[in-house]
Amino acid sequence: MTRRNDKAEADITTHDQNPYEIVKDLLKESVAELGLNENIYHILKKPNRVLEVSLPVRMDDGTIRNFTGYRSQHLDIIGPTKGGIRFHPNVNIDEVKALSMWMSLKSAILDLPLGGGKGGVIVDPDELSESEVEELSRTYIRQITPIIGPQKDIPAPDVNTSPEIMGWMMDEYDQLRGYNIPGMLTGKPLIIGGSKGRLEATGKGVVITIREAAKVLNINLENATAALQGFGNVGSMTAKFLHELGVKIIGITDATGGVYKEDGLDISELLEHAKSGQSLSDYQKGDPLSNEELFGLPVDILIPAALENQITEETAPSIQAKIVAEAANGPTTPAGDKILENNGIFVIPDILCNAGGVTVSYFEWVQNEMNYYWKKDEVNEKLEERMVFGFENVAKIREERGIRMRNAAYTVGIKHIAHALEARGWIK
Ligand code: GLU
Repeated sequence: MTRRNDKAEADITTHDQNPYEIVKDLLKESVAELGLNENIYHILKKPNRVLEVSLPVRMDDGTIRNFTGYRSQHLDIIGPTKGGIRFHPNVNIDEVKALSMWMSLKSAILDLPLGGGKGGVIVDPDELSESEVEELSRTYIRQITPIIGPQKDIPAPDVNTSPEIMGWMMDEYDQLRGYNIPGMLTGKPLIIGGSKGRLEATGKGVVITIREAAKVLNINLENATAALQGFGNVGSMTAKFLHELGVKIIGITDATGGVYKEDGLDISELLEHAKSGQSLSDYQKGDPLSNEELFGLPVDILIPAALENQITEETAPSIQAKIVAEAANGPTTPAGDKILENNGIFVIPDILCNAGGVTVSYFEWVQNEMNYYWKKDEVNEKLEERMVFGFENVAKIREERGIRMRNAAYTVGIKHIAHALEARGWIK
């Protein structure tokens, strides 16, 4: 008996940390809550297609290492599937599936004519030389070439993948196809068809949603404080734009360490520090800060901008922030979420908060297809419009139905997809 209980508990823990289980539960809950046809859940609960690929790469010392990669394409009823590629040792098939499902929801909330996709390679890129990373990137694209393309599935950067890597991937794809096809992925360097504003887009979008949430909660951002987990592309850009709004960022952590300064960190200096390739642990102008300490800081805004499963039943009770802005995908476990809810914390859910990246990726793809490029102001104006549109729709449903922002975001996304299923005759 005891043993069975132990097993049940172990299963619940696994379930609570498995993003694929988490997203399925949320989909099921929202379909039921909306009184929608249950078939919608049965269609959405699995990606259309998941490919696992073998990636043999010749290392600099002449040996071959065989990496494993995935590409998941969730749903293509509204447009081609779209989403990033991550290089990380913790990548696994369930994570990639969940990330592709979140991409479908992001695009649906912002009314982008796209579906969700995601890819990943199990690798710690810090252990590889630059030429090994290039070879891995090229091999990955060769292996997924049969299922991608500008009208099929459009990759982009994600954790540990950069514009430079996108450049190598596009080059490999073009060499295979025999001509220049810039719309096959987004987040590329500007000179080969990237969009102005794409590098900043996710962080900019995060800050737009924080600004809108502050309006709802009557928080004056000029006197507000924030803490940030993660200082990669999304974290650093979020810091930049928050700082420009007058928010004092007092704590930042990344995988290497963290830094705290009660009267506010020097963000311009930290951005320069990161640009020069140095990590936070090398930054001396502040006190050291651990992740646990970061979550408990007395701030108005807490921004997880790293990986999944950071706000858990262990870390959530110490959170004092009024707003949690999920710049990362899936940073909160269901148990952590319950605690945030009970403590009345306003959560800007990932599928809304970080959707600025895919939005400008969509603009990049549109520009590639037209072969006509927009000014940065035009891109930013269109991003602002989309993010506010998405936030207002979600906030309206939250108000009308008296539900949390997360459930409201799922509601908006699922309703949009349900209309498409209906239009195609899947739901009668
Ligand atoms: N990887 C980003 C995300 O998770 C961006 C995806 C894209 O630009 O397609 O939303």
